[in-house]
Amino acid sequence: MAATDGSDPVVAVEDVTFAYGEKVAVEDVSLTIEDGDFLGLIGPNGSGKTTLLQLMLGLNRPDSGSVELFGEPASTFDAGERIGYVAQRSTDRGEAMPVTVREVVTMGRFAHAGRSRLTAEDHEAVTTALETVGIRSLGDRRISDLSGGQRQRAFIARALASEADLLALDEPTVGVDAESRDRFYGLLDDLNRRGITIILIEHDVGVLTKHVNKVACVNRTLYHHGDTVSFLESDALAEIYGPSHGILEHDHP
Ligand code: ADP
Repeated sequence: MAATDGSDPVVAVEDVTFAYGEKVAVEDVSLTIEDGDFLGLIGPNGSGKTTLLQLMLGLNRPDSGSVELFGEPASTFDAGERIGYVAQRSTDRGEAMPVTVREVVTMGRFAHAGRSRLTAEDHEAVTTALETVGIRSLGDRRISDLSGGQRQRAFIARALASEADLLALDEPTVGVDAESRDRFYGLLDDLNRRGITIILIEHDVGVLTKHVNKVACVNRTLYHHGDTVSFLESDALAEIYGPSHGILEHDHP
């Protein structure tokens, strides 16, 4: 894992607004993600979570305001290997990939090494990453033959192989059964304990609040940002989902 010196926040978003044409998706949001945070991004469908996440990672440019990654403007940030991004429905896209699990994870190493020939150390890093996420024995399998949960682990392993110190996951367990989901989130807990900063979008608020230590609650604007306990004690959930929303209800069927 690349060292962070701890003085700069991992992500600093200041007064950010972004619109798709006329449609304002994110409005005047400011928030900071510190080294070691495990942040849950919560909000109803269409509330701007994915857009905000992509702004944070420099994948979208704000119309106004600024975003910094590890202390550098996101627009010029070029250490992409420090970030592992698992986009929404990555598990579906894996269906079409005619490559092995080991090859997918090795791609992370190319990003890290910035060269086309891999050393013994690179191969070892790939094996360690596979081991860490518990799929070493699946290395030679086609990624398309894996279950959704196993495939997500392969994508996480790819980020680990590139020594990412920020993982951003957009609804990573859609289509994954409840037991695999719990194990997957257990893995994220472990990675976070090892110092990796995590941003997670997960629609099940009850599941999410069991794992994250900070919550940002958005519905175009930011309604709440703070530790999980202060979020659960706040009115933010009722404000954005309506007063009848219980913590154990799901906003998707
Ligand atoms: P969430 O992740 O919370 O579901 P999104 O960030 O995906 O929300 O979307 C926020 C709003 O922006 C929604 O109203 C959505 O319809 C709109 N939107 C998202 N992506 C696009 C796009 N590529 N073009 C136009 N509108 C978009």
